[in-house]
Amino acid sequence: MNENQTLGSGKISRRTLLKVGGAAALTAAVGGLPRFARTQTTSMVPNGAGYYRFKVDDATIILLSDGQSTGQIFPRFAGNPGRQDAYTAALRAAYLDPAAFANNFIPMVVEIGRNKILVDTGIGPGALANRQGLTLTHLQVAGFSPQEIDTVFITHGHPDHIGGLTVPGGAPAFPNARLLVGAAELNFWANQATPSPAVGANLIALRNRFTLVQTNHEIAPGVTAVMTPGHTVNHMGVMVTSQN
Ligand SMILES: [Zn+2]
Repeated sequence: MNENQTLGSGKISRRTLLKVGGAAALTAAVGGLPRFARTQTTSMVPNGAGYYRFKVDDATIILLSDGQSTGQIFPRFAGNPGRQDAYTAALRAAYLDPAAFANNFIPMVVEIGRNKILVDTGIGPGALANRQGLTLTHLQVAGFSPQEIDTVFITHGHPDHIGGLTVPGGAPAFPNARLLVGAAELNFWANQATPSPAVGANLIALRNRFTLVQTNHEIAPGVTAVMTPGHTVNHMGVMVTSQN
């Protein structure tokens, strides 16, 4: 990247490599993956089914496919009643079928320095029958054991991000990892009058293991939590900064 290259709506220095709020914001922040393609080097390690690995300077990012849900986009998503016709037309103009919506769940590993940081955990093994909850499977296909993940950072409390924190029976899926989440995000979900099953089995069950963080918290050298509210009230993203 060039000095002060503009990404999205703001300028960043060349030391800021990517800013993510879950995988969706990864794309939003960099304007699409092709930008990253220009930073890949010949030392890039192989890819395989279920994961995609690429290098950005001294960081390696491994995107993990947790699975996909499909169905109608309306009314659950983009549900403004007065605007659905316009939205349908826009989707069709982009060669997307509103009746065949695909929602991909894509946690990621950030490998930088001595740290292996998992950002979000997928929907969890309870969904394996639907070919979802595959994060743990694809993590291992990509060459990692759950035990070597030293940090798990949760961007927000929706089930497709927290469900993989535990394995069936309730044990932590990443037994040696520090667990980090935004303080207000955990408090919002854990203090609901009727928490969702995923919140109960993961955020609440592991509550005492979580470190509650604020924006600008250094997750690890070169990796910082940043507030990215909107999708949820206290959604957080991850900013990875080159040491070069
Ligand atoms: Zn969500």
